[in-house]
Amino acid sequence: MRFTRIIGNEKGFSLVELIVVIAIIAALSAIAMPNALNILSNSKRSTCVSGRATAVHHYYRYHVNGGTFNPHGTTGTQFLVDAKLLNVNTVCKSGGTLTWAIAPGGDATLTCSVHGN
Ligand SMILES: [Zn+2]
Repeated sequence: MRFTRIIGNEKGFSLVELIVVIAIIAALSAIAMPNALNILSNSKRSTCVSGRATAVHHYYRYHVNGGTFNPHGTTGTQFLVDAKLLNVNTVCKSGGTLTWAIAPGGDATLTCSVHGN
């Protein structure tokens, strides 16, 4: 029985045809969704890595310019914004907390609680 007979039009799709099309769309979505989520996760990770590298770079500028604040053990990059070295506070798009570690030689690392180093 065609749907369209109900309204008197002979053109259109049968219920089985509609179900087949919906099933194909659902199967394609099930295949594509994990890839789309993986791409989104990778982009958040890349943004985090890039933002942390930028913050570390600006920390070195801060240090060379005579900044005395040692952020070891502190979180965030607000002190770089306060020093007008960063325009925007660096944040992790996945909600990770950024923690500074300053080695005795002065090497700085900014670690994300979600993405690591
Ligand atoms: Zn992160």
